[in-house]
Amino acid sequence: MGRIGILGAGLAGLAAATKLAEAGEHVTVFEARDRPGGRVWSETLDTPTGCYVIERGAEFVLDGYTSMRRLLSQFGLRLVDTGMSYYVREPGDVPDITCDDIIRTGREALQLASSSGLQGTAEALLADLPDEPELVDALRARIEISTAVSASEVTAKSLHHIASFEPKPSWRVAGGNQQLPDAMAGALGDAVRYGETVKAVENISDGGVLVTTDGGTSVFDSVVVALPLAVVRHPQVTLPTNEARNSALKYVLQGHAAKLHLPLETQPTTSAVMSVEGRYWTWTATDESGGVVPVLNAFMGSSSAITRANLRQHPEEWVAKARALRSDLTIPEDASALTTIWSQDPLAGGAYAAHAPGVTAAGTALLEKPVGDVFWAGEYSEPEFVGLMEGAIRSGERAAGRVIQRLQARSRNSDSERTKA
Ligand code: FAD
Repeated sequence: MGRIGILGAGLAGLAAATKLAEAGEHVTVFEARDRPGGRVWSETLDTPTGCYVIERGAEFVLDGYTSMRRLLSQFGLRLVDTGMSYYVREPGDVPDITCDDIIRTGREALQLASSSGLQGTAEALLADLPDEPELVDALRARIEISTAVSASEVTAKSLHHIASFEPKPSWRVAGGNQQLPDAMAGALGDAVRYGETVKAVENISDGGVLVTTDGGTSVFDSVVVALPLAVVRHPQVTLPTNEARNSALKYVLQGHAAKLHLPLETQPTTSAVMSVEGRYWTWTATDESGGVVPVLNAFMGSSSAITRANLRQHPEEWVAKARALRSDLTIPEDASALTTIWSQDPLAGGAYAAHAPGVTAAGTALLEKPVGDVFWAGEYSEPEFVGLMEGAIRSGERAAGRVIQRLQARSRNSDSERTKA
């Protein structure tokens, strides 16, 4: 049995720990917060008609989430249809442009991108579109909101997944997405140590890895680092690296986003309305009761949008704008708004990652390549589902698979050494 340290109890760390524990390894998970889930964070919001579960972080379970679906069924959890599509948003502040216009232009852009091998930035692609500037800007807004970075930085490939334009359904975990990390951490029991912040990780020259937290030091056979990109890059946490890993990290962009939740007086219908100017979108959706929840949800993407909205100093300005955008809804005058700015959370340092042009399969593979006995997981390191819950889970399970292979190879070597002796 190997002793494995796992740093971070988000979905990536928990997926790694679950797989390793199932393989009979001895795992210890270090988590700085007092809860599991990291950027999956469900809470409740009071409304005039009752209390409802909201997602302060990750919300939508999208197409192709095979690993997440498998884990949900393993832990007896189920998905509910949100009754609206994450991919389809009506522009609410550009009178002459419809949702269909954006979908049509988005598809055009995707076709153009595919024929040019998806090279270059999303912005370069937009520049080649023959459409009116207002329509191109609506498309730009759609890309920037979803990728949480500027269209001039992000690869055109991002249009495929996160900023797709197909009206596919989208789901959420019944009772809140937090149910999944709670269940996974619950099954790991005392192996998860909360309130312990990792400070340094070091390969020991004669084998093993030394982990220093604010609670002391521990030595493991291998370690899986499942910390967010911003923490991995932060000089306050010392992690082993090498030139190949550093150069692969250059193609990973840090996205920034904020969420807003507002109680509604009456039950709305499902909806998805975007502000092109404000780079945010708003929606109302169903939950497991089958009814539409009387809460207005909003998501603002990209650092420049958050700065322009003055969100850090005056979050109430976003509330006023959202009220104006959604004048179709009954938001009480004294509604208490809940704003979550992920860049202000030092244990996240932003929302999620996106890839820059020039990113290659070989490059992203380097992000997962171990340095000594230190293995890597986290949404930022996953090639296909970068930035998403599915990517976090896949990366964690992949890191666990690699650790198991390494342990098995070691045990075969020591068996053959014994036979020789
Ligand atoms: P995290 O969840 O961040 O886990 C890392 C853990 O490490 C955290 O628990 C953190 O507390 C801990 N940690 C940090 N520093 C230390 C330290 N020094 N020592 C010990 N522990 C530490 N994804 C979707 O699929 N669909 C969506 O609709 C969606 N919407 C999103 C909306 C927002 C606003 C945000 C912020 C994210 C959204 N995501 C969405 C992305 C999704 O939340 C992430 O991709 C995923 O949860 C990341 O998991 P992770 O395990 O890689 O990282």
